[in-house]
Amino acid sequence: MFQSSYIELSTSALQHNIRFIESLIGPDVTFSSVIKGNAYGHGIEQFAPLAQSCGISHFSVFSADEALRLQQALPRPATIVIMGYIDTPELEWAVAHDIEFFVFEPDRLAHAARAAKKVGKPARIHLELETGMNRTGFDAGNLPTAEKILQENSDYLTLAGICTHYAGAESHLNHERVLNQQKLFREKVTQLKARGFVPEMLHTACSAAMVTFPETHMNLVRVGIMQYGLWPSPEIYEKYLRQHPEPSNPLRRIISWKSRIMSLKQVYKGEYIGYGASFQAPQDMVLAIVPVGYAWGYSRSLSNQGQVLIRGKRASVAGIVNMNVMMVDVTEIPDVKKDDEVVLLGHQYDESITVASFAELSTQLNYELLTRLPLNIPRFVVD
Ligand SMILES: *Cc1c(COP(=O)(O)O)cnc(C)c1O
Repeated sequence: MFQSSYIELSTSALQHNIRFIESLIGPDVTFSSVIKGNAYGHGIEQFAPLAQSCGISHFSVFSADEALRLQQALPRPATIVIMGYIDTPELEWAVAHDIEFFVFEPDRLAHAARAAKKVGKPARIHLELETGMNRTGFDAGNLPTAEKILQENSDYLTLAGICTHYAGAESHLNHERVLNQQKLFREKVTQLKARGFVPEMLHTACSAAMVTFPETHMNLVRVGIMQYGLWPSPEIYEKYLRQHPEPSNPLRRIISWKSRIMSLKQVYKGEYIGYGASFQAPQDMVLAIVPVGYAWGYSRSLSNQGQVLIRGKRASVAGIVNMNVMMVDVTEIPDVKKDDEVVLLGHQYDESITVASFAELSTQLNYELLTRLPLNIPRFVVD
């Protein structure tokens, strides 16, 4: 059955991005592929097996349900770390399946020890430290309790990692804060080690920190946005270019989003198009009706603004983006036909609609735009 739109993931682009990231971190640092937010909209079930086939064997997710989806999607075993939400009843499941998880409060640590005893093997935990993000993480107040629980349950709690997360490494505005976090993290780790808490690995870096602060790589980097071929911010790309004056972007977009023309319509000069009066035809026009709207993640703020590609040419959204359809102006596209491919994101011939342009017009962060692509758009892997 023809789906009103579909997403393609490029294998060669992913291979390229992985090679680039590996060149930044070197052979001794583990690359953990961050696939929270449905693999940043790319689809866990499609993206993760593809990443595994490209050599990735370590994944980070936000929640237990994502860990379960990932585990079911992967053809081969891999290390899975839950960085955020896991409910107490699920801890036993995680321990039983060797799924690792961040711990950031005494309660969860105690529950993890209990779950491990019940299952009969140690829980592999990552002790998250508060260093200035003020989201999750043990601070000076509750770290002693954590140490006590760790000590009392040393047979059932394996310290797989000690970690933290930076508060906005993608912007120079946060430079001081991030440097301070690094310093605090190192101090706390030194103290923990001195008291006998020696982790298997230390990890702190997201994409932006990986590019900006090589000293944050430690044993493992948690890379989300860059593996998908996008920079965490224009600033980080600029920074990278200043240090590596190369003519081209070393990252390649993996995702494309496509649809087809559902119908064509002739309208005449002076007529209004779609709901309301936001677009009045300045001349006789041909419109293509595209079966994609805000229900599919094509933001309503792209009304009269967005552009798509048809027959290698740009066509502009005319009128308001509806729930399930939008109209685009194809007056200047010769031979346009029903069923012609419509590229919403990605390239067609020499033209390209970038995530950045799309994100800017819809005033969304590239992260936000991607993760809001609905689950029910079918996703396919291509070469
Ligand atoms: C999302 C996330 C990352 C990855 O961030 P990117 O900017 O996409 O690389 C790393 N660590 C944690 C804790 C995260 O939540």
